[in-house]
Amino acid sequence: MRYNMYEKNYGKRRQNYERRKRRRRKIILRRLACMLLIIAAAVGGIIAVKKYNSSGKTVPEKNITETLRAIKIPEWIDEQLIHLHNTARTGTELDGVKNIVIHYVGNPGTTAQNNRDYFDKPSTEVSSHFLVGLDGEIIQCVPLWEKSAASNWRNSDTISIEVCHPDESGKFSDITYNSVIKLTAWLLNETGLNEEAVIRHYDITEKLCPIYYVQNEDAWKQLKKDVGKALKSLKG
Ligand SMILES: [Zn+2]
Repeated sequence: MRYNMYEKNYGKRRQNYERRKRRRRKIILRRLACMLLIIAAAVGGIIAVKKYNSSGKTVPEKNITETLRAIKIPEWIDEQLIHLHNTARTGTELDGVKNIVIHYVGNPGTTAQNNRDYFDKPSTEVSSHFLVGLDGEIIQCVPLWEKSAASNWRNSDTISIEVCHPDESGKFSDITYNSVIKLTAWLLNETGLNEEAVIRHYDITEKLCPIYYVQNEDAWKQLKKDVGKALKSLKG
């Protein structure tokens, strides 16, 4: 009888022990699963942050003003910034630089200086970052990091170049053309773009600007090709 009692108690104790063991094992497993989840989340977070930083997309856009401010204007560009006024130069910063837009002034025989002084009048509502003149001279009117008023709804993410021309055809003279190529290639190099980023005002609004290079598609293709060549030689 006593022996049986002992056996019975032993059996119960054994059962309790097994139950406690199972419970402990469950708790340990649960803790392990929790720890694994935390580690996975941390590793995932680190990878996501690394990817975000190395994508290179967000960083330059965030610091676009800084990037553009750091560009050194070469001595072959005549800086004659127009005054801050109205819509010609509001001082608003660019959101980015996605394209370089080529225009023609549409006023045959006028010089870069004539056009720059016109932009500077308080009543004028248009402007461009650069003017390329009849003798190949280049005048800068608006700082690189600010919006110009030349390319309609694309003013916020483009740099604009207005080009002088001797007659109504709108064709650039050779000396002017060479300066357009030099300036455009330099801008592309400084902003990390390639010749595919060079567009006409026409490509934005279908306005016949620059007229000769809208009516002569081959001349436009050649211009872009020449910019590509100049860019290549800049990169060495
Ligand atoms: Zn235009």
